[in-house]
Amino acid sequence: MKLSLSNGIFSKLCIDGNFAAVKQLGFHDIEFNMKSIKKEHDTDVYREQKALTASGLNCLTLHSAVLHVKDPIEVHQAVYYGKISLECARALHAPLMTVHSNVSKKLPRNVRDECLAEVFGQIKPFAKKLDIKLSLENLSFNSTGFGKNVGQLEEVLGIIDPESEMGITFDLCHALETKVVDELLDNFGRRICNVHMANRSHQPFTEKKPELTHFLSALHEYGYEGPITLELEHRTSMEDIAKTKAFFDKLLKEY
Ligand SMILES: [Zn+2]
Repeated sequence: MKLSLSNGIFSKLCIDGNFAAVKQLGFHDIEFNMKSIKKEHDTDVYREQKALTASGLNCLTLHSAVLHVKDPIEVHQAVYYGKISLECARALHAPLMTVHSNVSKKLPRNVRDECLAEVFGQIKPFAKKLDIKLSLENLSFNSTGFGKNVGQLEEVLGIIDPESEMGITFDLCHALETKVVDELLDNFGRRICNVHMANRSHQPFTEKKPELTHFLSALHEYGYEGPITLELEHRTSMEDIAKTKAFFDKLLKEY
């Protein structure tokens, strides 16, 4: 397993400052979160590409910009977010992009399913063309989006991924908050290809809590060797991020 940091935590900094902060903490691998980009300027991807190359950091995964569509009229915007995120993933040489379902949990099922089919009907072929794997993230109960447990994720995947080609981004914080860690592991353990790592409320783990070691052991049993992406609350101090990194550097050697 490979320790990585979501740079979304530094999204308020300019991109050079963002990467500099990641490097200052000693990370080599990142998940690039599209929060760090201004969506008004598509050509920003060239700036991010230059900054990443200059930093020497490695972009393992990219977190897509997301719109939880609450009316079908917004589908085109969700598609735009997905596609510009894929463009950025290509520019940063990220082989994997984490996505949400892109639909609001408030939509009635028939409308939700229509919107899912439309959004992913456009994003998927584009991802395929760019050779970027898509990975669906489980959401928390307080998200506006749909997809927090096995039943909901299966409904989504049944529509957007009947071929079972997509991966799963397992967000441990969301799974703990929604109390679905084991059901998600049992059903999707073999499909996990990215992990968002944090305790409840995106607080950092800095010691061996039973829920953490239980989760890592299960991942290990499924043969997981992918990223462990620290996705921390944006007010987490540099000192606490450094402490978390030191803790995981040591802990991950056990798996
Ligand atoms: Zn997450």
